[in-house]
Amino acid sequence: MLPMPALCWLCALPLRFAHHGICSCCLRGLPKLPMLCPRCGLPASSLRSPCGRCLREPPAWQALVCVTGYHAPLSHWIHQLKFSRVTALKVMLARLLLLSWLYAYRTRLLTRPDLLLCVPLHHRRGWQRGYNQTALLAQPLARWLGCEFSQGLRRHYQGALQHQLSAKQRRTNLRGAFGLEIAVRGRHIALIDDVITTGSTVEEISRFLLAQGAASVQVWCLCRTL
Ligand SMILES: [Zn+2]
Ligand SMILES: [Zn+2]
Repeated sequence: MLPMPALCWLCALPLRFAHHGICSCCLRGLPKLPMLCPRCGLPASSLRSPCGRCLREPPAWQALVCVTGYHAPLSHWIHQLKFSRVTALKVMLARLLLLSWLYAYRTRLLTRPDLLLCVPLHHRRGWQRGYNQTALLAQPLARWLGCEFSQGLRRHYQGALQHQLSAKQRRTNLRGAFGLEIAVRGRHIALIDDVITTGSTVEEISRFLLAQGAASVQVWCLCRTL
């Protein structure tokens, strides 16, 4: 394989730090997030306290961190990572997620996780693609944060494809869909996904992990559909 040219993925100008993948100018120009609820990650009127929806019916997870809404260029890069096997994107995307988390960690006083898990693919879909794109993000993150990354969270069956179902059907479709090959009791978990849309998958997994004794669950994603 040829070495990756050290060019910004966005403006194609040479980079000072090749592994960053994006220049500081393009990094500053990424779409800004509106004010988001710290709990559910949806638009809200305060960064500090949970929104009205969360006060009535909070999600199972404790905090959500995302890089941007579902727009270009992130949406485009996620698509490339998923379908075109552009795995060289992984370090840049993982770094964007790290920067977003560090910002949230400082400003929202989040717990530092000691275990990273990624939303599993059904083994057959993972096999077809050859890799789980979310695991590609989790590996460098675990290294930088000095914490454990495990692929011990499994999806037992595929069920119907989530995007073809209504919100209620999605929840029913996921019940009992997950299993664990790792002990999570007392652990602070960051659950990583590329895109969060309705949140029904991460909701079901968070519920499951907390029922297995996890101390807390944060959801980290590249894009949150707002
Ligand atoms: Zn650039
Ligand atoms: Zn909320």
